[in-house]
Amino acid sequence: MFNLVIFGPPGAGKGTQSEKIIDKYNLVHLSTGDMFRSHITNDTELGKKVKEILADGKLVPDSITISMLEEEVQKNPNAKGFIFDGFPRTVPQAEALDAFLEGKGFKVDLVLQLDVTQDVIKARIAERQKVSGRADDDAEKLLKRIDEYFDKTIHVLPYYQNQGKVTTINGVGEIETIFGQISEAIDAKY
Ligand code: AMP
Repeated sequence: MFNLVIFGPPGAGKGTQSEKIIDKYNLVHLSTGDMFRSHITNDTELGKKVKEILADGKLVPDSITISMLEEEVQKNPNAKGFIFDGFPRTVPQAEALDAFLEGKGFKVDLVLQLDVTQDVIKARIAERQKVSGRADDDAEKLLKRIDEYFDKTIHVLPYYQNQGKVTTINGVGEIETIFGQISEAIDAKY
């Protein structure tokens, strides 16, 4: 079992790199953002509860997020390991994940931080807006999510740094170059 947390702000490339990691290492990709969007699309009870929260770019309460994530892990008893993408986003989520995995005799093996500064992301978004010729709602939403990241989620990093689990990768550059560095980091612990 090899468990990887991929960590970084919206727009850092977590989704893109997760796809490449799955292909190479055969891990199960668990994205809490994807799970919430699927609940909303299917109009489930959970979807109804979280719809507004996602629309506002805010974080879903920990209790809801943690139980949804644990349920998805339970659905994959034969997995070789998991990539946790977009989770944990708060320290209580990180603590819950540790306790949950420990109960199964597993742990988080590696935390990959895709390092992209707030200024770089905001500059990227501004560029996109210039190209499209207008400031649209999605860009505004994205800015809110970025604020939420630098306000709340960034505090998860020291939690894992204290456990000596974080490898930082420069998230600015070519996709393949970044993936090369990610592969080296995984191979060192795999
Ligand atoms: P993402 O696709 O990972 O950027 O997630 C999209 C949205 O889903 C976020 O802006 C939050 O509203 C919600 N979300 C996803 N993961 C979490 C999480 N671990 N904790 C709380 N809210 C989350």
